[in-house]
Amino acid sequence: MPFPFGQKVPIFRWRASGRPHFPEMGGDRPLAKRSDKTLRVLLAKPRGFCAGVERAIEIVERALDIYGPPVYVRHEIVHNQRVVETLRAKGAVFVEEVEDIPDGGVTVFSAHGVSEAVENSAKVRNLPIIDATCPLVSKVHKEGQNHARKNREVILIGHEGHPEVEGTQGRIPGGVYIVTSPEDVPKLTVRDPARLAYITQTTLSVDDTRDVIDALKQRFPDIVGPDVKDICYATQNRQQSARALAAHVDLLLVVGAQNSSNSNRLRDFGAAMGVPSYLIDDADSLNPSWLDGVSTVGITAGASAPEELVQELVKRLEDFGEVSVEELSGVEESVIFKLPRELADAARAAE
Ligand code: SF4
Repeated sequence: MPFPFGQKVPIFRWRASGRPHFPEMGGDRPLAKRSDKTLRVLLAKPRGFCAGVERAIEIVERALDIYGPPVYVRHEIVHNQRVVETLRAKGAVFVEEVEDIPDGGVTVFSAHGVSEAVENSAKVRNLPIIDATCPLVSKVHKEGQNHARKNREVILIGHEGHPEVEGTQGRIPGGVYIVTSPEDVPKLTVRDPARLAYITQTTLSVDDTRDVIDALKQRFPDIVGPDVKDICYATQNRQQSARALAAHVDLLLVVGAQNSSNSNRLRDFGAAMGVPSYLIDDADSLNPSWLDGVSTVGITAGASAPEELVQELVKRLEDFGEVSVEELSGVEESVIFKLPRELADAARAAE
């Protein structure tokens, strides 16, 4: 049975009988011993939805309640097909560009944020806009704008073509230089090496980003920036939990979309630790041959992957024999972002 978005899902140990056993294991206790016949499944904590994704989904759902369908969403609201399909079934219409939205159509910008040009193209047409940009992405926009105001050129560490990077790029007057790896740094030609700043995409690998920052500081000693603080709490927590998980498993499965930056980084962590690691959209993408010779499987999920996909994967593993499930101890997340004011205003007006 699917678990609705935004609801906490109980963590059980599952056995072939499907009978749930104990809830999540305590943090200090040693990991339970696996019987020879049982496939041991360890779940990362935290995993899956972050506060920015939960907020974005809630924005679309509330907009549908207030205005009624259709509500137009520019791009995938978050990078997950299950989320997109569920919202589509409720009346959300996903479009590539603002120009695809009919006059008067309620317009939602995705959690990744949009450029000023995109926002202006909706404003010029007087489309009712609800901005689901994650507040942590907006914070990076403001940082970049502050640097530009101080006459600094801005270097954006991120992946070219990612929607968040395109949005950030289009928010900073004068534009940005995009660098992805330390190898990109020597290729930069800047106006004044003494007046430079850097900002980062929120969903990068903390370790890889440090390498790029080190290369920037080496070449431009006066450069200013946030160290890795632009990488959001959810990305950092999920990377930390994936690393802890990978230390205990023979196989790492990351549930998330192929175009999800933070999910790809989680897979990279497992691979870097020498653990066979796969990023899969859902349980159907599991290749049974990956389980050959495996006694412990680790599962985590990117910030845009709903918990129901993790639970479906656990159920799928039960098809191959007896399974026990435990959740590793990890950071308790309690971040909640406020909904945008325009949504509250619209709700009041609709009353
Ligand atoms: Fe916001 Fe981080 Fe979630 Fe992206 S991954 S939506 S920046 S909290």
